[in-house]
Amino acid sequence: QIAPTLWENDLELWRDRLPRPGWRDNKFSRGMLAMAAGVEMTGAARLAARAAQRAGAGYVLLASPEKASTLYRVSLESVVVKGYRDTLGYSEIISDERVNACLIGPGLGTDFGGMEKVLATLRREVPTVLDADALSLFEGNSELLFENLHGGCVLTPHAGEFKRLFPEFGGEDYLALALAAAKKTGAVILLKGANTFIASPEGEIIVNTGASADLATAGTGDVLAGLIAGILAQTGEPLLSASIGAWMHSRAGKLAGPGLIAEDLSPLIPKILNEIN
Ligand code: AMP
Ligand code: MG
Repeated sequence: QIAPTLWENDLELWRDRLPRPGWRDNKFSRGMLAMAAGVEMTGAARLAARAAQRAGAGYVLLASPEKASTLYRVSLESVVVKGYRDTLGYSEIISDERVNACLIGPGLGTDFGGMEKVLATLRREVPTVLDADALSLFEGNSELLFENLHGGCVLTPHAGEFKRLFPEFGGEDYLALALAAAKKTGAVILLKGANTFIASPEGEIIVNTGASADLATAGTGDVLAGLIAGILAQTGEPLLSASIGAWMHSRAGKLAGPGLIAEDLSPLIPKILNEIN
């Protein structure tokens, strides 16, 4: 049993660790993110890619199945899209040695190849965000996922995804659940909801309160995953990236206000970054 160290997710927690480009930086040195996309829920992958760019990743490389790649190319002008035919092709794309972080899950799809791609991404051994389908794919087989996680992972389940991944944990105490899951997996766990609990394996807990219920709309979770991944590509620090990402997401929700849709969030990130600098 670890005694949790608890913080409110306040700007002052990490303001001086917010990644900013320096004059020596170029697009690669700022942070390069490789992400996996699928053929069906293409909106989810696009929302995540945009969010990662807005959060400051200098270069986003999107690996898409060949048959969907044109759609990504025309809708994400400043994202570099590469097509793959199979898991081997996918692995080759993400093997680019400049890649600092990976994101897998939003819009990935739940066919068998998805699981292989998650495992290939983890073998890449860079800090990685796992969300959505990357978590749901391992329902009933979560030990396989856990065996392959490494110290740089952030898992961002909502309550339903969490229950599928950790069926042995009961109860509604989200703080305790996130902490137990982080301890079990050795990964940072960000458990999403009206309040979001971010737990590290060392027993640190950061609680993100005050998010607007207007965020309860499709696609906002994909934006959050992209924000975290974009920050992770710059910092390499899972707990820090999850905390900054959750804070920016809440702030964007507030600024967008009632009537918001997921597409509204990323365009507000420059304004938020301006405010806090
Ligand atoms: P997802 O379920 O993956 O689409 O993610 C939904 C996002 O919206 C998460 O970041 C949640 O924290 C946020 N969210 C959902 N419902 C609420 C709510 N009632 N109040 C505040 N944030 C919410
Ligand atoms: Mg989601």
